[in-house]
Amino acid sequence: MIPIFDGHNDVLLRLMLKSESDGGAASFLNGDGAGHIDLPRAREGGFAGGLFAVFVPPAKRGANHDKIDKLMQAATYDVPLPAQSELTQAQAVALQMVSLLFRIVRRSEGAVRLCRDVGDIRASVDAGALATVLHIEGAEPIDRDFRMLEVLYEAGLRSLGLVWSRPNIFGHGVPFRFPSTPDIGPGLTDEGRALVRACNELGIVIDLSHLNEKGFWDVAGLSTAPLVATHSNVHALSEHSRNLTDKQLAAIRESDGMAGLNFATCFLRADGRMRADTPLSDMVRHTDYLIERLGEDRVGFGSDFDGAVVPEEIGTVAGLPRLVEAYRAAGYGEALLKKLCFENWLGLLERTWNVHASKGVGSPFEAAARGDHGGGVGIGDSAGAELVGGHLLDDPATLHDEKPLA
Ligand code: ZN
Repeated sequence: MIPIFDGHNDVLLRLMLKSESDGGAASFLNGDGAGHIDLPRAREGGFAGGLFAVFVPPAKRGANHDKIDKLMQAATYDVPLPAQSELTQAQAVALQMVSLLFRIVRRSEGAVRLCRDVGDIRASVDAGALATVLHIEGAEPIDRDFRMLEVLYEAGLRSLGLVWSRPNIFGHGVPFRFPSTPDIGPGLTDEGRALVRACNELGIVIDLSHLNEKGFWDVAGLSTAPLVATHSNVHALSEHSRNLTDKQLAAIRESDGMAGLNFATCFLRADGRMRADTPLSDMVRHTDYLIERLGEDRVGFGSDFDGAVVPEEIGTVAGLPRLVEAYRAAGYGEALLKKLCFENWLGLLERTWNVHASKGVGSPFEAAARGDHGGGVGIGDSAGAELVGGHLLDDPATLHDEKPLA
């Protein structure tokens, strides 16, 4: 069985919402059979590891994933954005989810490992353990002085999405709209630019999934790291606000970045509906397109397990071998499958963590403490659209001409 390393899951959120006395660690380790991921089913499906998201759910009850999933079953939709979350509350939730991951690792007696570099991931997979990497989806728990960033980095944080689909002090997420362009709302704030620079210095992956298009181009102009969308699909095949346009894909390729195929059915289907009866051929179609645009070294998975409705043929993480079979049936060879399932993610993490990590870890935090938010050179301010990861795009003038859909 080919091991699979995955760019996005929400199992920590699912476990936290169960409100169990141990925080959900036993449910994960022994297997609770609910949702999409637990350790026994991960083993069964060859799920070797991935980025595990810390996500602060909307404070108001009823504005949760289930409700959003239901709204996205309609033919067209524009899901109302949840309100911004408050810092103290967001930090409390983040702490709870990070501590849950620590408890899972500690009680697993070696069966689950927290990985801080690519060597850790390889060693973990070789030992048959589940490799977890700490990711934060939406930087709501990060304060303006980056003190929480400092703490989370030391705790193992190696990947960060500036926003989820609601606005925060760093930028604006793209709302869940179908059909829609991703060009909704303004770009990054000064704080957002400072956070990009801090992540570059620390070697933290900056995840572009959920970011609106102007924010995307701000990061593209500013960041020195490869551009990554951990769980996003193809806008040309499904005109969802959350999917990537051809121009965004070109910028990702140019920066030697990566996209992870999202299994969420609303981003796969041409009709944008969130429905379990979505054929695996839709996944193959998006993957073919991503490979055509990004090259076969820059595509992987970003399942969104435990965060979305996935195709019923996969069902849960235990069903991943059926997806691999669908690729084989579509003519994907073993070498390509190994890249898609595992090696491409490790390559991307290596390019980001090892190349870009700063030697002097103190600097980004101290810059934040001085209030140095965006007063610097700001490549993104003037030449942002042209410069992508240090490379010039062929035709920068065309970058902003996406027309909104009627
Ligand atoms: Zn997400």
